[in-house]
This record gives sequence, structure tokens and C-alpha cells, in this order.
Amino acid sequence: MPAKRYLFTPGPTPVPPQVLAALAEPVVHHRSPDFVPVYERCLTRLREVCRTEGDVLLFTASGTGAFESAVANLVSPGEPHLVVSAGNFGERWAKMVGAYGAEVDHLRYEWGETPDPEDVKARLGEREAKAVWVVQSETSTGIVADVQALARVAKEAGALVVVDAVSSLGAVPCETDAWSLDAVVSGSQKALMTPPGLGLCAVSEAALAATGSSPRFYFDWETTRKAQAKLDAPFTPPVSLVAGLDVALGLLLEEGLEASFERHVRLGRACRAGAKAMGLELFSPDEDRSAVVTAIRSDHADDVVAGLRDRFGMTIAAGQGPLKGKIFRLGHIGFFDVFDITTQLAAVELVLSDLGADVERGVAVTAALDAYEHAILA
Ligand code: PLP
Repeated sequence: MPAKRYLFTPGPTPVPPQVLAALAEPVVHHRSPDFVPVYERCLTRLREVCRTEGDVLLFTASGTGAFESAVANLVSPGEPHLVVSAGNFGERWAKMVGAYGAEVDHLRYEWGETPDPEDVKARLGEREAKAVWVVQSETSTGIVADVQALARVAKEAGALVVVDAVSSLGAVPCETDAWSLDAVVSGSQKALMTPPGLGLCAVSEAALAATGSSPRFYFDWETTRKAQAKLDAPFTPPVSLVAGLDVALGLLLEEGLEASFERHVRLGRACRAGAKAMGLELFSPDEDRSAVVTAIRSDHADDVVAGLRDRFGMTIAAGQGPLKGKIFRLGHIGFFDVFDITTQLAAVELVLSDLGADVERGVAVTAALDAYEHAILA
């Protein structure tokens, strides 16, 4: 395998050099003046990125751990909850909510379908739920759901709304307060351009007031909320990761959230245009909302993944679950520009040619650049 490595998965994602430099700083004590201002700024920036005036609780955990905090705090045994799934992560949350003893109403779509707010409305009409659990960007399929519309119907039915924004926060709009979202969960290693290891959960007043009886300790929201209010983390935080996240969030906010959303839309357009120009069939929808990862159908999907790795040192994502061997996924969240897209496409082109496909050399790169350069007018 070549010495040079390229990380093109939809998480973990490449980390900007400024963030890497912050990670390499000497370790400081978490209750010292060396850390407290960094912690404070990081928490403030997180609120800005989550678009909330409320608390964003930071946990030493991956996204799944931060999600489990929502489950442990909001679910009591025997309570009704509606979980919407259309892929790997939605199915994970249905299992987790069930593991805490909830009566789970599982609105389960095929992998690759887009959840429909009307279905959620109908389900809530048949059976009430304390909370509706949705995935914004289902990374396993490339579908980005209309969380605003899903939240609206849930709220109309009087339910809390919990959103998995692990691969979407910072890449596509997620308006915690404006859309009345009660818990928004994300992780450091996706569009937030930081290594894995930090999970976050933005929580509304209503969510904090609705905590249940499940046993919990490390992930108890009130424990972390109270401690963060005093800028005194309840448990030793990974100080270097927090320092790195602080720098990454600074970069994101310096670019501007709207500019970042627009960049991601253009990266998605470029990736889809390139794939189509090569004659490939998209699995994820050909729509601007699919700005996180592009899933492409291929009979040679796993050979493409292996070929990119072995020939070029590039890591892309394979299909998961029922999509294993049927799709490969090209990531475009976080520290990505158009050349990260054209590099992936050029390599796919070469590997497909090796596999015997009839692909005109350079056609994908040209189409991708054209699509990227096309200004967004809407
Ligand atoms: N939800 C989504 C949409 C994801 O993409 C991922 C990670 O791939 C997760 C949840 C799980 O996050 P983690 O692997 O950080 O626990």
C-alpha cells in the first residue's frame, strides 16, 4: 500500500493542521486557568454551531455514547417511544431505546428510503409517544431527512424530539431552537473536524424537565449540566481533544455556518455529477440535501473499496448491513474541498477501469468541477 494515506470516509474525517497543532500542545490540568477559558470558549462555540441558547452537554464518548445519554435520561421502562429508522443508525437507536425498557413503536423504513413526516404523524395519531427519535443524516445510506418537518409533526402530537445529528451537525442546517428540537446529538469526528472521542448533546429545557427513572451516572444530564455551568467538568475531560475541538469550531464559525452548508451542498453536487458522468448509478438521492456522503451502487462495490485502499492508500466507506457489497460511499463532510472529491473520483475511475469497466478517462473530474463551480442561486 502507498505510504500516503487519504481519509475519505464520512467519519472519522480529515483534521485540519491547526487542530492537529492544538492536539500536540502540552497537556494541562482541567481545573486550571490553562484549561478553563478553552473549555468555556468551546462550550460557547458549540451552542453557536447547534444554534441554541440552551445547554450543550459535552461527554467523553463517541456519538453513540452521547446518544445513550439521551436514552438514559429520557427513557423510563414501560414508556411509549417512537423510533424512526431507515438504515443502520436508526436501527441502532431502536435497539438502544428498547434496551432501556421502553415500549418501542418502530417506524422502520427500508435502508435508503426517506422518512415521511406524514407517516410519523399517522403513527403518533395511533399511539402516543413521549419522544420521537430521528436520524438527520443516515450515514449508512446517504439520506438526509427533513428534520424540521419531522419535528413539526412530533411537536404537534406533544412529543419530545431527539435528533441524531452525528454526521450532519456543521454540514447541513440543524436549527436546535428554531425547530424546537429537544436533544441534538453529535460527535467530534465528522463535520466538526476533530478526532473521535467527544460526544455532545444539545438539550432543551423541556428535555431537562422530562428526565426519567432509568439508572444512570456518568451520562446523567443534570450532573454534567450543573458542572458545566461552573466551568468545572464533572469528570476528567480529554483536555487535548477539547482544545482541538475548540480550534475546529473556531475554523467552522470563521468560515460561517451558512457558508459551510453551501460548501457541503456544492461538494455533494460535484460528487454526484462525477459519479453519474462515469455511468454509475447513485444510491443516495440526487438532491442538494444529500450533502454528507454519496452512496453509489456497484456490483464491484467491495472491489472498489479495496482497490482504492491497496492502489492509492485511500480509505472510503463500504456498504453496511444489507447494503454490504452493493454500494460504496464517498464522504464529503468537514475539512473537504472540491479536490478531495475529484481525487476520490479519479481513483474510482482508475479502479473501475482495472475491473474492466468502460470509463472515459477524466470525465468524472470534469463533471465534478463543473458542478462545483456552478453557483448556488437559491
Ligand atoms: N449516527 C450516525 C448518523 C453516524 O454516522 C455515526 C457514526 O458513524 C453514529 C451515529 C455513531 O457514532 P460513533 O461511531 O461516534 O459512536
